[in-house]
Amino acid sequence: MITRKSKYEISLMKTAGSIVAEVLETMKEMVQPGVSTLELDEKAEQIILSHNAVPAFKGYHGFPGTICASINEQVVHGIPSKNVILKEGDIISVDVGSVYKGLVGDSAITLPVGEISDELKKLLEVTEQALYDGIKQMLPGNKLYETVSAAIENCAKPYGYGIVKQYGGHGVGRNMHEEPFVYNFHPGQPGPELRPGMVIAIEPMFNLGTGDVHVLSDKWTVVTNDKKHSAHFEHTVLVTDDEPVILTQRL
Ligand code: MG
Ligand code: MG
Repeated sequence: MITRKSKYEISLMKTAGSIVAEVLETMKEMVQPGVSTLELDEKAEQIILSHNAVPAFKGYHGFPGTICASINEQVVHGIPSKNVILKEGDIISVDVGSVYKGLVGDSAITLPVGEISDELKKLLEVTEQALYDGIKQMLPGNKLYETVSAAIENCAKPYGYGIVKQYGGHGVGRNMHEEPFVYNFHPGQPGPELRPGMVIAIEPMFNLGTGDVHVLSDKWTVVTNDKKHSAHFEHTVLVTDDEPVILTQRL
């Protein structure tokens, strides 16, 4: 069942969303060569706790971090570590969730570490554009897959990017992962109808190579099979009577 959130729940989700936005703003400032992903993680946790919220990922099915820090060919769910040091030319996806008074905000960005190649710049630009193209379709009455999912897929197509099929967006609220699942491609069926009060995390993941991925032996880190780079952007978005509202909007 897809829940529709009350005004009160939405107000709490706005707070949860503003906290993750602040974390990601801080990550943008911190990400540079020489920084470890554990340092990023510790800062993220500190910010979340300072707002009387708690990290949504830490302890979720046993995940050890506050953020997922996924570098280069890592797609999602990278584990922060003092041994993972950012290098010039890397890209890093930082995904973060916070829980404020029982409600979740979830958002991700992929950031360049120093100067990156034009090929990677384009990958980041197009993946972020797909996020916004998808969000634009989050209008009441629209069927999720034939509008939002299709818009995301259409963004990747001209560039030949691989779309990760096993992972995607999701409803979010009192739980981090609620119905519906959101494909990042049109799966054939039209999908559930969007209605005001639904809150959904949209999160395209595009790869320079194919969309094929597997999980490393740490049981978490998802990597591309061909070791080519991957990008990931995410916002938590409210469907209204009118235009969609991004609850994790950064300043
Ligand atoms: Mg996320
Ligand atoms: Mg998510």
